[in-house]
Formats: sequence, structure tokens, C-alpha cells
Amino acid sequence: MKLRYLTRVDQIDALSAEEKSMVRMVEERFPFRSNEYYLSLIDWSDPFDPIRRIAVPDPMEMEGAGALDPSRESNYTVAPGLQHKYRETVLMLVSDMCGTFCRFCFRKRLFMNRGAEVTRDVTEEVEYIRQHPEITNVLLSGGDPLIMATAKLEPIVAAIRGIEHVGIIRIGSKMPAFNPYRILDDPSLPGMIRKYSTPEKRIYIMAQFNHPRELTPQAVEALGILLSAGAIVVNQTPLLRGVNDDPAVLAELFRKLSFIGVPPYYIFQCRPTLGNRMFQVPVEESYAIIEAAQAQVSGLAKRARFVMSHATGKIEIAGLTDDYIFFKYHQAAETANIGKFMVFRRNPDALWFDDYTEPAADVPVPTEYMVV
Ligand code: SF4
Repeated sequence: MKLRYLTRVDQIDALSAEEKSMVRMVEERFPFRSNEYYLSLIDWSDPFDPIRRIAVPDPMEMEGAGALDPSRESNYTVAPGLQHKYRETVLMLVSDMCGTFCRFCFRKRLFMNRGAEVTRDVTEEVEYIRQHPEITNVLLSGGDPLIMATAKLEPIVAAIRGIEHVGIIRIGSKMPAFNPYRILDDPSLPGMIRKYSTPEKRIYIMAQFNHPRELTPQAVEALGILLSAGAIVVNQTPLLRGVNDDPAVLAELFRKLSFIGVPPYYIFQCRPTLGNRMFQVPVEESYAIIEAAQAQVSGLAKRARFVMSHATGKIEIAGLTDDYIFFKYHQAAETANIGKFMVFRRNPDALWFDDYTEPAADVPVPTEYMVV
């Protein structure tokens, strides 16, 4: 099914002239793009509809501070479009287009300045990976790699699969949510997965479903095609105010994902990206929401870790007491930090790791495990 893509808010028939004029400045700053399938999931009679919040510009995006590169990805860029932050894993930006521009996207800079960070010719990136035998995981990201035609994506996957030391190729994609017909209508995509996702070395699809309503019958069918083709599919989502900051909604998302064989992998604290203040939930509130959601579901539905993709590493929010919060480096740019434990005094207003400024040296944790 050929979907119509919309690139201006003026093209959304369901919005009133007043609503359109209110967001004109917003879309000039942070571009809008979506398609008729995804917009059809919105209940337009509900001004707080979660899908609307994901896709449609909102005047509140003009509020608050934030950075365009909150995780300082530029610090880890080793070749055009190639980031090497963690020893075993590299991230390749292969596309600066998506099936919808999420209003909360932490890489919205790619859509504001297209062509600046993404290269079509990946020769240099592939050579870098070949020269680094410690790299066992390659994540294709963007933007969305599955917005590309399979004929364009396949040579990249084939080149990486040709490198002996790479075990896992990950493809980060929200296309199963934004446009499942991309998968349903293209037999060459499962064909490519079948060829390069081998029993010894799998392709992982890192899907992104933020709300259970995105798991339509078409989306579930598309995920089934990817699974049948031999991909492993997992889900990651940020915790977002007004989208999934309700334990019942999050529990339903986790439960449905586990039923269809797509385990929740990461839940991200919303990054302090410019324009994202309206989506941010304080760290400790996010933790409580996730705990309450996970208490309602089976073990297979609660496998996700709650993490912050901080400039220094992936920091897991490991627990709370009345006075303290516990963090653990799940991954770290400095390998010596991996697994390190950090204890801080609680700060209910904190939105990001940097907002924790009081290390709790009086907590009985061996000091060699503390990074303060
Ligand atoms: S799918 Fe990912 S890269 Fe694309 S707009 Fe959404 S968050 Fe950004």
C-alpha cells in the first residue's frame, strides 16, 4: 500500500486553522513529517492523544532549554556518520529520514540540517570496522535505516556481514510502528534478513513502540514477518510525559510486546534535547512508574533496563531508598567505569544524571565501586 507522506502541518485536515497557525513557528524550527497511516491512529477528539503527542508539533516545544546533541555523540564520531563509544559496538548513521519525525527525537538535529552527518558512501566506515577486531556489534541507525529501499540497505548489510569479527548487525527502526506496509509490501526485505541473519550471527531489529496503540494488527503482522525471516526483534522506548507515563499504559505495552515475541530491551530516560521539555519526566518519578508497570507483568515482559544514555555511558537507574538513588554504569566510554556503582542523595526534581550533585559518601558501599 502506497502511503501519502505529509511534510507540512497545513496538510493535516483534522487540525483547525487556529491549531495550524499555533504550530507554524514550531515546524519552522523542528520539521514535521508523518504519513496518513500513522496519523490515522490519532483520536483527534482528544487533545491529549498520545499518538498526536508523538507526531504533531506542539507550541510547548518552544519552551525550555536543552541541547541538540545531548549525549555528545560528536565526541565519539570517528569517521563521517560513525560513532565508536563502547568498545564492542559502533553506530552508523545511514539515514537522516524517518517514517514520522518523533517530536521527542534526540537526533532531531539530523532533520534540521539534512546531509550534515549522514553519508551514503560507507566505504570509510566499513574499513574502520574491519581494522578494529574488538568491534562485534554494528548498529545501523539514523534516522531510520528501513526508510531506505532494501536495494540501498542490502549492500551496507552485506559489507558488514563480510567482516568476520562482527557478530551482530542491529537495525534501529520505528518503521514497524510508523508504516508497517514498508515491511508487509516488500518481500525483498525478509529475503535480505534471511540471507544475512544466520544461525551463528543474527540481525537484530531494535524496534521502537512507545504506546500499545501503535501495536495494530498490521504492525504485529509486520513484526511476525521480521521474526519469521530469522531476525531477533526487541523493543526500546523512552519514558515520555503524556505518552506512556502511566503504569497501566506501560504495563499494557510490555505485556503485548512479550505476547508477540518482542521483548522490551531498554526504557530510556528522556534526554535533555532542545524542544523536549514537555516530554521529560523526573528520573525518580520515571523509576516509580516503571516499577509500578513491571509489577503488573510477567518476567518475560519486564526484562527492560531503565537507563540514561549519558555522554559518559549508559547509566542504569538501579534503585531508590527514601534518601538515596543508586546508579550503575551498564556501559561506559571509559571501560574502567563499566559496572561501577554510584550513590547520590535523592533529588525528586532531577531530569538527568547531571542534576545529581550530592554524592552520598556516607552510604556503606565499598569506595572502590563508587565514582563520585
Ligand atoms: S524514529 Fe528514532 S530517529 Fe526517527 S524521529 Fe523517531 S526517535 Fe528520531
